[in-house]
This record gives sequence, C-alpha cells and structure tokens, in this order.
Amino acid sequence: MAEKFKNLIGGEWVAPSAGAYFENRDPARCSDVIGLWPRSSADDVNRAVEAASRGFLSWREVPAPKRGMVLKRAGDLLAERKEEIARSMTREMGKPLEETRGDVQEAIDTGYYAASEGRRLFGHTVPSELHGKWAMSYRRPIGVCGIITPFNFPIAVPSWKIFPALVCGNAVVWKPAEDVPHSATLFAEVLLEAGVPPGVFNVVFGEGSIVGRALVEHPQVPVLSFTGSTETGAIIGETAGRMHKRVSLEMGGKNPMIVVPDADLDLALDGILWGAFGTTGQRCTATSRLLLHESVHDGFVKRLVDAARALRIGHGLDGETQMGPLIHREALEKVEYYVDLARQEGCEIACGGKRATGPGLGDGLFFEPTVLLGVTPGMRVEQEEIFGPVLAVLQFREFDDAVRIANGVKYGLSSAVYTRDVNLAFRAMTELDTGITYINAPTIGAEAHLPFGGTKQTGNGHREGGWQVYEFYTETKVIYADYSGRLQRAQIDTYK
Ligand code: ADP
Repeated sequence: MAEKFKNLIGGEWVAPSAGAYFENRDPARCSDVIGLWPRSSADDVNRAVEAASRGFLSWREVPAPKRGMVLKRAGDLLAERKEEIARSMTREMGKPLEETRGDVQEAIDTGYYAASEGRRLFGHTVPSELHGKWAMSYRRPIGVCGIITPFNFPIAVPSWKIFPALVCGNAVVWKPAEDVPHSATLFAEVLLEAGVPPGVFNVVFGEGSIVGRALVEHPQVPVLSFTGSTETGAIIGETAGRMHKRVSLEMGGKNPMIVVPDADLDLALDGILWGAFGTTGQRCTATSRLLLHESVHDGFVKRLVDAARALRIGHGLDGETQMGPLIHREALEKVEYYVDLARQEGCEIACGGKRATGPGLGDGLFFEPTVLLGVTPGMRVEQEEIFGPVLAVLQFREFDDAVRIANGVKYGLSSAVYTRDVNLAFRAMTELDTGITYINAPTIGAEAHLPFGGTKQTGNGHREGGWQVYEFYTETKVIYADYSGRLQRAQIDTYK
C-alpha cells in the first residue's frame, strides 16, 4: 500500500478533511506509484488561510534580517539534502538528475539571496519641499499570499515566490502542481526545519480547479502569484481583477533563437539542443523556434537532425540519459496533436514526430526529439506553445525579417541570437520584444538574482527573481514627519 502524505496546516501535517487522495506516479515508469497525496477541498484551503492569517500577525513583527536568517538556514538545509531531493524530483517528474540538481541549486541560491535581502528591503529618504519636515518610504508586508506553481521546476519556481514572500513578512498558502507533490513535501520539510513558525507557511495539495480556485477566490488572500498555462492565468487574472487582488502571472513562451551567418555554428548547435530539448522542451523559456539565415540553413539542419536523433532518451535517474519523459499522458497527447497539425500545415518532420519506445523505455511517456522544417510565420505550430520536444525551424534573409518573425507571436518571454557581430548583438538586445535576451546562449538559463518575466501575453508586467520581486511582496508606505511645530501646507506654503 502506497504511503499517504498530508497537507501542512498551522505547522502540523494533517489529513485532508474529505479523506480523498490522488496517486503520484513516475512518468518514466508509469507502474511506479510514489505515494498518495491529499485531494483536498475548499475546507482545507479555508483552514490553511485561517492558520496563515494568524501566523502573519506574529511573523510580520519579526525583524526582516531575522526572517532572512530562517531562509539562510533553509538554503543550507536544501544544500545538505540536494542529492536526495533531486533524486525524488527526477522520479516524480522525469527530468535528468543533472537538471533536478540544478533545480534544487536554484532554490538554494534564491534562499541565500532572500536572506541577504532581509538586510536591505530598501525604502527611500528624499528631501521634503518644506523646512523642518522629512519625507521617506518604507516597505511593509501585505498578508497571506496564495502561491500556485507548475510541475516543470518543482522547487526552483516555488522558491522564487515563497522565499521573497516570507522574507518580506508575509504568510503563505501554497498549492503545488498535482504532478510534483513529493518535491513539495520535501521543500515543506526543509522550511519547517529551518524554523518558519507554525502557520506562516502552509501547503494544500489537490486539483487546480478546486484547491487552486478556492485559494484564488478566498477573500483573506490579497496576493496571488501564479506560474502556469496562459489559460489558467487568464482565469486567475479575471478573479484577481474582480476582487482587487495583487496578482503576478508568469505564463507561456514561444521563444526564438536567431542564427546569423557569422555565428559560431558549433556553439549554436550545442545551444539549440539544450534550449529545445532540455527538460523535454517543458520550460516556458524553451527554444521552440529556430530562425536560421538561409545561407546556413541546410548545413545546420543536417547537423541538428543528426544530433537530435543521437540524444539518449531514458529514465532521468540513469546517468546516461539526456532527455526524460513528458510529464503526463495529456502532455504526450498534446505533443502528438501538434505534430499532426504540423503535417497538415505542410511541414516536413525531419526527425522524431512519434513516441519513443524500445529497450528500457517500457511504459514511460517518452517522445522523440522532433524537428519541423518548412515552418512559416503564422502557422499554428509557429505561434502556439507546444510544451514538448518539438522545434520549429524557419528561414530568413535579412536580419530585420528575423526580428519581425521573432516578435510576431503573442508571447514575449525569452529570445536568443548567435552572432559575432557586436552591432547585430546590440540590435537584438534592443529590438527583440522579450523580457530576456541571450547573446550566444540559448533561451533558457535564468539566474536567481536577476528579474525574470516576459512582455505581452507572457505575463502581466511583474517580474520574479532578483531585486524586483520584493516590490511585489511589499506595500510601500510613505511617512511625512513634520517637526517644524506649525502647519505647513505642501504646494501652498512651499511657494510663499
Ligand atoms: P501546466 O500546463 O503548466 O500544468 P496549469 O495552468 O494547468 O499549467 O497548472 C499550473 C498550476 O495551476 C497547477 O498547480 C494547477 O493545479 C493550477 N491550476 C489549474 N487550474 C487552476 C484554476 N482554475 N485555478 C487556480 N489554479 C489552477
């Protein structure tokens, strides 16, 4: 009988009130049941929000540098348990061990950054326009933050949201993705051991349409941070708008890599393999469009197809594996749907295009690395996020055309250019309409201490990570201290 895991509410591990559970299975070996996690209800969410509301009252009184010390400890504990957590993460979501180690490392880095931010959280002191008066601002916590996260970075993405929320003095109720509850449980263990007080951090497992929705609609949750699909983001954004909540949305991408004739093509080849097929293409920053100059197209495509065919597919815990499975059956079916669509749209499937089977792959949800040729701007496979190992290749003649194609989608998360021409590099930096642009590196690989996010329909204007996310999790308060001993009227007495 598989182990039953619990929600974390008010510092205690508690069973879901309705007693229902869901199974968590290894996508690379579907017969492997990892455990059972709570299929929670709105009742459980209500309890968690109550606990968080109480926790907030004392946590906001703890000085920010002290709150930061708890996160420093969380970073240390994650470092101690890195290998164990990475292995559990690979087992439940499939990406190779090297990548899951990176996932944990990103949370460690984010924890240390948050710890140091506890000693900054800068406000401003500026001159007042009146004599005998000071003007300044400082940053205050807001309340209970509802955090909703996806499966592809089971610990890194939650850490981007939860650590800043906590160091700023907020309490958290977290709804992790259904596919990665084990990573979430381990992350929660770390935070408890690090000394986050009871109620300040709570985890409720379950379905997005029930638990996620209850959290989003809860009147005592004024802050929402979500990473996931554009469709779900739209629902959350609507509710947040209606209820006047602060909301950060991180959603899709259709990220281009441009390769011009003077590029280091060996470097570009390494970059595209990692950008397109790393995490089995299941990253919002995945390189899903390759824009090749017509003069390098044929030669580069040949090398790309050979290299894609040679990628070793398998279980992520096998040290030889370069690409793991897709996360679940619907994801696999979605990829198949888009490959069929590519055929209908007149593309050539240069390699892949089907499920990967064979020795060692068993009943795993594997799909071959797929390269689509003959893609033209406006095709659905060029416009829509597939979230799998499928790369659309386009050709261009003038750099202006490449920029126009790159920008011609509704998303604006990441972009990349491979060139040795400094002028082109700077043009790319300014003309590509994305939140992130890489020069001579693929579209993936954000670092924890820089802001992360996109333009257009990728997000709603906020950034995660770096120094910027701390603004999201705090309310600015302005103080005017007048020690002149008389009434001084701004704008009026100033000009007397
Ligand atoms: P993905 O395609 O990356 O799985 P989803 O948007 O489906 O993206 O899921 C991201 C997160 O949003 C998951 O934790 C999921 O459970 C949650 N979620 C899904 N639907 C809703 C909803 N209606 N309200 C709130 N959260 C939801």
